[in-house]
Amino acid sequence: MSKVIIIGAGGVGTVVAHKVAANPVFTDITLASRTVAKADAIAVAVNAIHGEGRIKTAPVDADSVPQLVALFRVHKPDIVINVALPYQDLTIMDACLECGVNYLDTANYEPKDEAKFEYSWQWAYHDRFKAAGLTAILGCGFDPGVSAIFTAYAAKHHFDEIQYLDIVDCNAGNHGMAFATNFNPEINIREVTQPGRYWENGAWVTTKPHEIHKPLHYPEIGARESYVIYHEELESLVKHYPSIRRARFWMTFGQEYLTHLRVIQNIGMARIDPVMYNGVEIVPIQFLKAVLPDPKSLGENYTGLTSIGCRIRGIKDGRERTYYIYNNCDHEAAYRETGTQAVSYTTGVPAALGAAMWARGLWSGAGVFNVEQFDPDPFLAELGPQGLPWVEKFDIDLEVD
Ligand code: NDP
Repeated sequence: MSKVIIIGAGGVGTVVAHKVAANPVFTDITLASRTVAKADAIAVAVNAIHGEGRIKTAPVDADSVPQLVALFRVHKPDIVINVALPYQDLTIMDACLECGVNYLDTANYEPKDEAKFEYSWQWAYHDRFKAAGLTAILGCGFDPGVSAIFTAYAAKHHFDEIQYLDIVDCNAGNHGMAFATNFNPEINIREVTQPGRYWENGAWVTTKPHEIHKPLHYPEIGARESYVIYHEELESLVKHYPSIRRARFWMTFGQEYLTHLRVIQNIGMARIDPVMYNGVEIVPIQFLKAVLPDPKSLGENYTGLTSIGCRIRGIKDGRERTYYIYNNCDHEAAYRETGTQAVSYTTGVPAALGAAMWARGLWSGAGVFNVEQFDPDPFLAELGPQGLPWVEKFDIDLEVD
């Protein structure tokens, strides 16, 4: 039985609120966010299903450790599910240490002034969480999250040695808009405009953004042009599975999306440094976020599937084997259940399930952990029933040689 605070009332927070409310292991639930009206609207929808008072709401600016500490002292949570933005990871972890609260998130810390994706800042909290006897679970969305749990499952059951890992992320959905991002636009654009980066033979190889690409076939979808981009779980996976010779992350993009992205960059709207406008300092990418569609609003007209999985080659019992494990998620089904599209759904379901794993003592330990460090079995046993069924294929052409 656990008390939980969810921080962040966006698309992902909506899904987490629905899933946490449906799980009796959570006795006391508070949804806290900067704009409390958004949290209130989510609570109304969730409480209509699960009963009045199932979720309470509270305002908080999670950039402020004192505000977080005050919130935690009132509600006394056992665990915080952080689905605000990556900028808030460290302040929330600081407040957790101050109040003796466990922690879970879905995206690694990023400084606002530099688009840099690495775990160093959060791994640096390991000794303090360990000394406090607290658990911090990093990256428990879909990717990062299930992608790493799929890898841990493959390592546990199907491989003596994983040698080649390709995480493949396809969104074949159609929202009918010329340009929109599926999660927070600022974070999304920072991520996909980065140089590409992958791991090979013990070192990182850097490419120009979107330099490496090829069509890959996704189940029930077909061929989609897929691009090698850097993604944060590569860093923890090559650390925890040192037998990996090459690890890459592929994401599909449509031509229309890439054209818009190129224009946005060329005209300076992807800049993350402040510029003066009419005597006021603004950050172009933050202004752009304000005029782009809210990812949460895309759900209503979104059709089609997402498909995210791991394509793995390695050795089992002295023989080479290939393996593909994936989930397909339907935008319309996600919307019917939670009022959000599949990208928020595939992130929120694992976050709520990871917190439940911790609350039920199935994932435990003092310190800061990436999800592949926990037992994948109980998590994957429940992922399907929670709405994200997964499929395994053995000894097939992985297309990623
Ligand atoms: P949204 O922009 O829809 O929602 C973010 C929420 O956090 C908003 O409610 C926002 O409040 C709130 N927030 C922002 N800053 C603060 C603050 N200082 N204090 C309190 N609340 C704050 O984002 P998403 O729901 O799309 O994404 C949430 C997280 O999930 C992101 O970190 C994203 O990177 C991660 N993610 C992870 C994925 C994975 O698979 N691992 C995939 C997709 C997303 P306000 O309404 O006031 O702006």
